Amino acid sequence: MNKQTEFIPVCEPALLGNELEYVSEAVRTGWISSSGKYVAEFEKRFAEYCGVKYGVGVCNGTVAIHLALRAAGIGPGDEVIIPDFTMIATAFAVCYTGAMPVFVDVDEKSWNLDPTKIEARLTAKTKAIVPVHIMGLPCDMTAIQEIANRNNLTIIEDAAESHGAEHGDRKAGALGKMAAFSFFANKNLTTGEGGMVVTDDEELYERLKYLKNLAFPLGAAREYIHDEIGFNYRLSNLHAAVGLAQVERADDYRKMRVDNHGLYRKYLSDIPGISHQFDPAFAETDTTAATHVHWMNAICIDPNQFGCGRDELMAHLKAVGIDSRKLFTGMHQQKSLLEYGCDTGGKFPVTDRLAMNGLYLPSSSTLGEDTIVRICEGVRDAGKRA
Ligand SMILES: *Cc1c(COP(=O)(O)O)cnc(C)c1O
Repeated sequence: MNKQTEFIPVCEPALLGNELEYVSEAVRTGWISSSGKYVAEFEKRFAEYCGVKYGVGVCNGTVAIHLALRAAGIGPGDEVIIPDFTMIATAFAVCYTGAMPVFVDVDEKSWNLDPTKIEARLTAKTKAIVPVHIMGLPCDMTAIQEIANRNNLTIIEDAAESHGAEHGDRKAGALGKMAAFSFFANKNLTTGEGGMVVTDDEELYERLKYLKNLAFPLGAAREYIHDEIGFNYRLSNLHAAVGLAQVERADDYRKMRVDNHGLYRKYLSDIPGISHQFDPAFAETDTTAATHVHWMNAICIDPNQFGCGRDELMAHLKAVGIDSRKLFTGMHQQKSLLEYGCDTGGKFPVTDRLAMNGLYLPSSSTLGEDTIVRICEGVRDAGKRA
């Protein structure tokens, strides 16, 4: 295939280390369920990578959020603060507990949960905040932690997009009481399908292990005694085998994503009407001491300056063999959540603008400079043609 015409997917997994060797070993030895050794090794290594004590592997990122909320005691009658601009799983996981998700708009620059807008949405029922480090940029956790402390709220990070991102001297995963990660095929580290909850709290760790395995008694030989309703959220050894190989090279994969973003910035820089999410690495003054790991290379366009609208840009890219995706539609616009009873009162201008004018460009770790140049030329041409 010609590099100039080959179809460029929006994201492909990078499986460049011991993935095949470990999966083969799992198959060869017959350990393919959640009982195999890779699950515990992957949990240990990933928790270490995040700088926390415990990891509990689960079968995807959505149930990781649900499990963490349940372990924190969230249930019917409670309210949970989430950003309006996120992937639907954040909101659905709250609904699974019977609690009510409450939406807060995101910040103009960071596209993350806006701390200045949280307190207006708190009620006597609010129990938790789920900050989402969107696209790989950590939220303003200093401000969010202060609000949580003042109002006695539990913080559960939705870190599904932010493996290895840093806020101050801590990594994503170590910025709240618990954190939920996804290892879906397009995430910075992947097991195909998979997830993990990480925490420093031993009691919560025990709760998470108990609830994820159908509330079988912990420790004892398998006894069919179930004092609570549990879930089967187990991660298989096959997936964990891939996960262990991924975490062994976590810093390489992170660097590839970050370097690719640098190339996008370079080759898009002279095209008018394109704005990026805040990234301290490209800011004149960095007061946040955060590192952005660029899950996806998202841009937002100003149609007047750029020359055409977002949808026309995406259509042009598709015509020249480049895949892209719209950014998330706000939670306040989702029929499912309206019917569930969510209060959509309030305004969400930042989310609405991102949903209307935002898109993300191909973001595989393995992209490389030639492909990024071709994508950026595609973007440039779309604006000029109009
Ligand atoms: C990917 C993602 C999830 C869900 O993860 P799955 O593994 O696909 O269930 C949750 N939250 C956010 C912000 C995500 O990007």
